Amino acid sequence: MTVSPIVTALRRPRNFEDNVNAYFDHAATFCSHAKGLLDQIRICNAVYAFAFPVRFADGSIEVVHAWRAEHSHHKLPTKGGIRYAPNVDESEVKALAALMTYKCALVDVPFGGAKGAVQIDPSRYTLDQLERITRRYTHELDRKQFIGPGLDVPAPDYGTGEREMSWIADTYGQLHTGELEALACVTGKPVTEGGIHGRREATGRGLMYALSEACRSAEDMAALGLSVGLEGKRLVVQGLGNVGYHVAKFCREHGAILVAIAEREGAIHNPKGLSEDEVFQFRKRTGSLLGFPGATDILKSPDALELDCDVLVPAALESVLTGENAPRIKAKIVLEGANGPTTPEADEVFRQKKMLVIPDVYANAGGVTVSYFEWLKNLSHVRLGRLDRRRQAATEMRMLQAIERATGKAFTDSERQSFVKVTDELAIVNSGLEDTMIVAYQDIREALRRQPEAGDLRTAAFITAINKVAIVYEELGIFP
Ligand code: NAD
Repeated sequence: MTVSPIVTALRRPRNFEDNVNAYFDHAATFCSHAKGLLDQIRICNAVYAFAFPVRFADGSIEVVHAWRAEHSHHKLPTKGGIRYAPNVDESEVKALAALMTYKCALVDVPFGGAKGAVQIDPSRYTLDQLERITRRYTHELDRKQFIGPGLDVPAPDYGTGEREMSWIADTYGQLHTGELEALACVTGKPVTEGGIHGRREATGRGLMYALSEACRSAEDMAALGLSVGLEGKRLVVQGLGNVGYHVAKFCREHGAILVAIAEREGAIHNPKGLSEDEVFQFRKRTGSLLGFPGATDILKSPDALELDCDVLVPAALESVLTGENAPRIKAKIVLEGANGPTTPEADEVFRQKKMLVIPDVYANAGGVTVSYFEWLKNLSHVRLGRLDRRRQAATEMRMLQAIERATGKAFTDSERQSFVKVTDELAIVNSGLEDTMIVAYQDIREALRRQPEAGDLRTAAFITAINKVAIVYEELGIFP
C-alpha cells in the first residue's frame, strides 16, 4: 500500500518548511508532471545568508544575522516581504519564499517567490538603530544582486512596514543614482514616496474578499450549517497588526461581528462585538488590550482560538493551529491571514471535521497583488487612472444623457453622482484586487470540483499553483 506524503510527513518531527513541502508533496500526487520538473518547482533556487556588524550611537557593536531566499526564478523579478523577528531562521525564510511562488502563481502575478528576514526583535531598538540595520541590510542585498526592480523586489511582512520600505528605496536609490526604475526596487512604500493607495490595507481587504467569495456559495455554506454572506458572521482574530486590524475592519464593514481579539499579552472577548479601532487605540494608550471596557479578559492568548465563533482568522504567527488544539477549535471556517498558521496535523483534523479552510497561499495574496500594481505604477511613472479618468467620467455622462433623451426621464443629481464617478487610484486598486481574489477563488474551487479526491481548498490551491508554474517551465523550455 502506498503511503501519502502527508501521512509520511506527519510521522517525523517537522518545521514550517517541512510543512509547506508536505502540502506540496501531497498536492503533487494529484498532478501528472515528471518528477524532475516537480523537484525543480519545489526546490529553493537561491539563498543568501549573511551577517553584518552594526555600530550603535553608544559605540557598541552587534552582529546581525539576515537572509534573502529566492525560491523560484521561473519568472523575474522575484517578490516577497521582509520579516523582522527574533526567532526567524533560514528554514523559515525558505518556507515563506516557497509560499510566495505558489501565491503569485495563484493570483497571476508574474513574479517568482522570495522572502527576506533580519533576526532582530524590532521593539528592542531605537528608530535610529532600526534605520541603520535596514540600510545596511539593503546594502548587503545590493552587493549580491538580491535586490532590484528586475531582480528581486521586497515588501513589508511581520515586523516591518512603510517606514522600512522607504529606507530601503532611499538606500537603493543612493546606490543607483539616475536609474529611472529605481523606485520599483521595493513595494509597500509610503504613498508620498512612490507607494500606491490601498497597499497598506491590501492584505486585510483581500482576505475579506476571499471570505466573502467563499460565503457567497449557498452549497458550501449549507454544508457548514451557515447562512450565505458575511452578514452576522462571528469573527475571532489573532494578531492586531497590519493584517489582523484590516481584515477585522473590512469584514465588520460588511456586516461581520468581531467577537474576540488575541494579542501577545492575552485576549479579549465580547459576544456583542468589538471595534478593532477602539481596541487598537486602547492598546496603544495602555500598552495592553486587557481591561478593554465591556470585554472579558482571557489571560492565555491561545485560548481565544478555541472560542465559539463562525470564522477564525489567525493573523499573527505560523503553527498556531496544531494537532493538539485543532480538535477544540469551534469555528466552521479558518481564514488564514498569517503564513503557515495551520500544521498538517491540524489540517487533517479540520478535514475530518469538514471545516472550510481558506488557505494562506491564496487568502493573504492581496498584499502581493497590490504590490504588483505599485511596481507597475513605478515602472510606468504615472498614477493609476491619471490619463483617462476624466475621459471615462465624460463617457459615462454622455451615456446618461443618451438614456435621458431616449426615455424622456431626467436623473436626479444624486443618481447622476452615483453613476458618474471620477475614478481615483484607490478605486482602481480595490477593484483590481477584488477581481483578482474572486477569479483566483473560483479557479481553486473549480480545481476541487474537477478533483474532489483532493479533499480541500489548500490541496486544490497547491495543485493549481503547481500546474501554473509547470506550464511556464514546459512552454518556455527553461531547462539548460
Ligand atoms: P505585524 O507585525 O503588523 O502584526 C503582527 C501582530 O501579531 C502584532 O500586533 C503582534 O503583536 C501580534 N502577535 C505576535 N505574537 C503574537 C501572539 N503570540 N499572539 C497573538 N498576537 C501576536 O505583521 P503583519 O504584517 O500583520 O503579518 C502577520 C502575518 O501575516 C504574518 O504571518 C505575515 O507573514 C502575514 N502576511 C502579511 C502580509 C502583509 O502585507 N503585511 C501579507 C501576507 C501575509
